[in-house]
Amino acid sequence: MELKRCDYTVGWICAIPIEKTAAIAVLDEVHKPLRVPATDTNSYTLGRLGEHNVAIACLPSGHYGTVPAAAVAINMRNSFPAIRFGLMVGIGGGVPSASNDIRLGDIVVSQPSGDSGGVIQYDFGKTIEKGRFVHTGSLNSPPTVLLSALSALQAIILGSTISTIVQDGEQQDDRFFYPGPTADQLFHSDYDHVPGVGRQVDTCRQCSSAQVVSRPERTYDDPHIHYGLIASGNQVMKHGKTRDRIANETGVLCFEMEAAGLMNNFPCLVVRGICDYSDSHKNKRWQPYAALVAAAYAKEVLRHTPTGSDDDDDDDEDTRETYHLSPKDFTAVHDEDLDQDYPDMSFWYREPLDPDSHYPIGVQVDARFRRPGSILPIGDTVLTLRRICNLIIRGCFRGIAPGRYQVQWIFWFPAGRNCPPSSGHVPNGFYPEADDVENSVLERVFPTAIPGEFPPEVDSAFCFPWSLLLIAGQPRNFGSYLLETIDVDKHPLAAPVLLREGFKEQPLDPGLWNTKRNTGWCIIHGDIVDVDDSKQIALMITKHFERQWVGGFSFGGVKLVPV
Ligand SMILES: [Zn+2]
Repeated sequence: MELKRCDYTVGWICAIPIEKTAAIAVLDEVHKPLRVPATDTNSYTLGRLGEHNVAIACLPSGHYGTVPAAAVAINMRNSFPAIRFGLMVGIGGGVPSASNDIRLGDIVVSQPSGDSGGVIQYDFGKTIEKGRFVHTGSLNSPPTVLLSALSALQAIILGSTISTIVQDGEQQDDRFFYPGPTADQLFHSDYDHVPGVGRQVDTCRQCSSAQVVSRPERTYDDPHIHYGLIASGNQVMKHGKTRDRIANETGVLCFEMEAAGLMNNFPCLVVRGICDYSDSHKNKRWQPYAALVAAAYAKEVLRHTPTGSDDDDDDDEDTRETYHLSPKDFTAVHDEDLDQDYPDMSFWYREPLDPDSHYPIGVQVDARFRRPGSILPIGDTVLTLRRICNLIIRGCFRGIAPGRYQVQWIFWFPAGRNCPPSSGHVPNGFYPEADDVENSVLERVFPTAIPGEFPPEVDSAFCFPWSLLLIAGQPRNFGSYLLETIDVDKHPLAAPVLLREGFKEQPLDPGLWNTKRNTGWCIIHGDIVDVDDSKQIALMITKHFERQWVGGFSFGGVKLVPV
């Protein structure tokens, strides 16, 4: 399919060429260039990241600072009118402190705090000698659709995922090599750099090792991610004491030079890989790796950001059609044994037959018996409940066009004496791992159960999932929704407290279960829900712990149909 400029919805801006190289390295696919208006002087690389088509542009060579960055953004928005939000991705100078153990190769992400939108502008102006921080106006927050992705990302451990993306990039281009912790020296802020000799002028070979701040070794090399304020200004920060003073006044975690030019006319998230400590010892050694780490994080942001309309989108076209809830790439987290156990249904996991039909949410509940209230990233993949007797599954979506929708839940209730496998064996993983004592619910219920066999003397009457409860509504507080936990063992129906008033509950009806059993996937028509200007909805499945063998059922997804 030929893509047009209006098919690109994400703008990715870099300041220096190595940052653009890093961005291209993490693309899933590079697209053919498109012609842009002659007035647009940007040079673009176009490509795909997950479900998003991305236009990448870099500041002109040798140009730094907020003004050229703003110019790039304005051109980009003119040439790609469907761009919903931007990502400013690249390197930055870290601000290590007692409260934020920032190391080279870590990531700092702009996050609003108090009355700040996440980026604050600093300007030395005439007072450069004193290094004073001057408030030069307030800047906007990143767009809500990105903040939602951030809250999801903060709930999961990302370091190793990012490392994997980074390793791919390193293989594509040697420049992205990881310099390693021995190349990460932080000097005391009052100790100025002693230039090296000749070509080594930027290295710290002449600097006193006695002035290196002693910091504990990290157990893993995976980058740490710090969320907070970023300082943006037109001058390079390269003075340890000034850095610390501004950081004390403002709480910033990072210095960079472009974001302040973007925030008010190009809603964006700022992602900075830390390549130096904003002091006189700064050099370029860590830049390529830091650029790649930032690009890898941005890739994860997009993976957790739904496509579709957002707050800025006044186009009502979507309200006439079924709303797309989430990306449909859910192969990655789906375990292999499901395919082996249920080959005939694997297509549901691989690809929805009709892109307008079924929308998986949540993540898989795996063989390890995720605890009730497990934190689930924003709509990501199919989950399966076949092994679960005590759970809450949550998904949350933003950017839904306001209106009334019928919620349709997609389920499968397999036949058989007990749980799904008709072949008479229990799939691996049906039982908790031996060392997973805390979660070994079934072991407590069936102490004699042997993995691979059905538990003895289990009556098929136990199979009905009585306490399956489907709930839809708006989250009481989106920010904390995914993080709040409930013990459904004690309070099986307590999940609604996470939702605002007006939520709809739909207990599963036994008759329905009997008629639909073994008929493959079925749609359960749920209640009508209103989506207001918040454009968000939360979906929840709760399953009450029964202290019995529980019949299997798989959850295929949810769709919202406008009514
Ligand atoms: Zn030095």
